[in-house]
Amino acid sequence: MANVESFDLDHTKVRAPYVRLAGVKTTPRGDKISKYDLRLLQPNQAAIDPAAIHTLEHLLAGYLRDHLKDVVDVSPMGCRTGMYMAVIGEPDEQGVLTAFQAALEDTAAHDCPIPGVSELECGNYRDHDLEAAREHARAALRQGLKIQETILLER
Ligand SMILES: [Zn+2]
Repeated sequence: MANVESFDLDHTKVRAPYVRLAGVKTTPRGDKISKYDLRLLQPNQAAIDPAAIHTLEHLLAGYLRDHLKDVVDVSPMGCRTGMYMAVIGEPDEQGVLTAFQAALEDTAAHDCPIPGVSELECGNYRDHDLEAAREHARAALRQGLKIQETILLER
């Protein structure tokens, strides 16, 4: 089976909430695509409820694009402790941290309907929790985001 970057990260040594550059790929034409690990909760200590991370996905999809250009994708991690973000180019980590912080501030302040929540626009439109999503954003901001380096597992 192909090697997967996140399986090489020592999840016991990171300190959430954080922003981590998970990897950079070069396309056949030489363009770069960067993948970021945007972690909200400490791995294996807690997890975001499915409805709340679903709402975070909807809100951060728009708000991260408001603060960072060339975002390709923002998706929840299956472990429900954060999001992955793919972006064209190689934005510096401090810029990504600033954008993530601004997107979390927007999320914490979001008090209108969640975007994309209808049977036409979403695959599970009943499964949302705006208040819990806002609380996760507030909690991460309270704790303070850091830049996390990648600490590889020793095998
Ligand atoms: Zn959805």
